[in-house]
Amino acid sequence: MASLSTPKNAFLAGRWTSEDSAKLYGITDWGKGYVGVNAHGNLTVMPSKDPAKQVDLFEVIEGLKERGVHTPVLLRFNDVLSHRLREIRKAFDDSMTEQQYTGGYSCVYPIKVNQQRHICEQMAKECVELGFGLEAGSKPELLAVLGLSATAGGPGVNGMPIICNGFKDSEFIETVILATKLGRNIIPVVEKFSELELIVRHAKAYGVRPKIGIRVKLSSKGAGRWESSAGVRSKFGLFVSEVLAAVEYLKKHEMLDCLNLMHCHVGSQLFDIRVLKNAVNELTHIYCELARMGAGLSMLDIGGGMGVDYDGSQSAWHSSINYSVQEYAADVVYRIKSVCDNAKVKHPMIITESGRAMVAYSSVLVMDVLGTSRFESDPQLEKIKGDMEAEGKAGGDVPQPVLDLLDTYQNMTDRNIVEAYHDATQARDEAMSLFSLGYMTLPMRSAAERLFWAIGHKLLERSAKRGELPDEFESLPELLSDIYFCNFSLFQSMPDSWAIDQLFPICPIHRLGEEPTRRGILCDITCDSDGKIDHFVDKRIDKKTLELHEVRDLPGVGKGVEPYYLGVFLLGAYQEILGDLHNLLGDTHAVHISVDEAGRWHIDEVIEGDTVEEVLQYVQYDIADMKRAMRLDIEAACRQGRLTLAEGKSLAKFYDDGLEGYTYLEE
Ligand SMILES: *Cc1c(COP(=O)(O)O)cnc(C)c1O
Repeated sequence: MASLSTPKNAFLAGRWTSEDSAKLYGITDWGKGYVGVNAHGNLTVMPSKDPAKQVDLFEVIEGLKERGVHTPVLLRFNDVLSHRLREIRKAFDDSMTEQQYTGGYSCVYPIKVNQQRHICEQMAKECVELGFGLEAGSKPELLAVLGLSATAGGPGVNGMPIICNGFKDSEFIETVILATKLGRNIIPVVEKFSELELIVRHAKAYGVRPKIGIRVKLSSKGAGRWESSAGVRSKFGLFVSEVLAAVEYLKKHEMLDCLNLMHCHVGSQLFDIRVLKNAVNELTHIYCELARMGAGLSMLDIGGGMGVDYDGSQSAWHSSINYSVQEYAADVVYRIKSVCDNAKVKHPMIITESGRAMVAYSSVLVMDVLGTSRFESDPQLEKIKGDMEAEGKAGGDVPQPVLDLLDTYQNMTDRNIVEAYHDATQARDEAMSLFSLGYMTLPMRSAAERLFWAIGHKLLERSAKRGELPDEFESLPELLSDIYFCNFSLFQSMPDSWAIDQLFPICPIHRLGEEPTRRGILCDITCDSDGKIDHFVDKRIDKKTLELHEVRDLPGVGKGVEPYYLGVFLLGAYQEILGDLHNLLGDTHAVHISVDEAGRWHIDEVIEGDTVEEVLQYVQYDIADMKRAMRLDIEAACRQGRLTLAEGKSLAKFYDDGLEGYTYLEE
């Protein structure tokens, strides 16, 4: 029997409270102190984990609406980012003090994780304060990072470490060498032997003593989704034999003192800390051997991979991790220290490139629900009976499967529940084949479907009362769950949900003092059937539907539904840049929110999302041409009397306004 996790029965256990919602959605598990629920039943963000400084997300969304900024909107919390960086700094500082580690620590931010200027500019500023640095993995990223490090601390004066990974051509390396001359603390990491030759050549030509790093292909396996980032078959790095050849090569050119850094990267979102421990152990041994051979080593860069507990389960599961930042730091410091102490090698400066862990927490997407679709639990018996009578009057017989379904529905008891469902399934299948053969009318088919869904609902209700669901009905809750249509594109805003089944926590941002009485899956507004979310975070189970509140239609045709907003959390890492323009749905608005000393929130910046014009231009449309062509068509239609002048004017206006407008739906 599968246990049925149903919302608590409000009647038995007293009124539903915000705390019940917090528990149901696992907010403290994945929120890690950054997310909470307030007395109004609204979701809050506490950027510094200080309950006295809360941002009420519903209030923010209402405030933005008044300013004409419509959902979907990405909320960025600079203070969360700031807090998170300090948390990482402190974890390493504490571990180093405790273990008497003398080499120091720096975290460099690989900008590929989120290259948005606003984020990187803040990051560069914080890096100067915290002794952190930046990492570039391609030519455009290198140019961005060189620019960012200039504005961060005055031209070339701050000494912030800049690590260059990824494949490099001659021009890339020449730029790096000249940037060294400019005064940047820049370290190209050799991924291929030929890059080393280029570094030596350009360094000599410009008379520069560069800092050089080497990435090693470790024998320790990587793990998780990106396990091929490491190991001897990895795309990057030198084999140990090539590392030795590099040492000889540098010695020959009297540059062995320039070999300053050893690097590895074992994968992203490392869910099991043991994988990292093995790799760090191996890399440190190599480091010590090379140091003894006379390399001028002073830095050990263990790459990225510090994971994020997306589902709050703290387990070695794909969307989770089985360690905290503190444990990560303590393990890394301990491993490196013990290997170095044994080899009597000076403790290196430890560098991590923990991109995901730095930025994931700082952004939240809020989207509105556009409407729902559901299988009703009430089959509308009166209507069915009316339809049956009409069927008789028209000279036809009521098909047997419909009579059977009606009978089953009316005679269901706690005792015959399993049997009833089997009968119903059989009758439904018969009804569908009669219909396909042309022996059943549309009203009768509709009656059969409604009865079948109603029987399913009854069965679920009865099982819920007993607290267990017979195994054969395990898929029933999903089958009968509602569909909530949400105003967003999965491909633009959370592409990893589609690409690698990454889970992100999702929770209503208001009405949390109210029991959610529905269960549903979420669909986006792309016309791609993959644009849906049907897996949700949970500490224990593989959860396929989310508890949601009833949303009611607003009175009046086409007026939509009463506002209902869902927040998607931990979107700061990778999602923005991996997002694409599926169906030409563009970037969402992004809004920077901060909290002042008094605990009031402020809007620091509104970055408008793409307009329709912008996404069309991206795919090479000529907007002026299109407008002209539409004008001509409208003009002709008016002339021929197919449109009135007023209609023509309206259509032209809709067209022009639409081009300048948001790519998402606005009321
Ligand atoms: C992608 C990447 C990172 C960042 O990894 P996270 O999992 O985000 O910490 C760090 N270093 C290198 C070389 C990378 O390619």
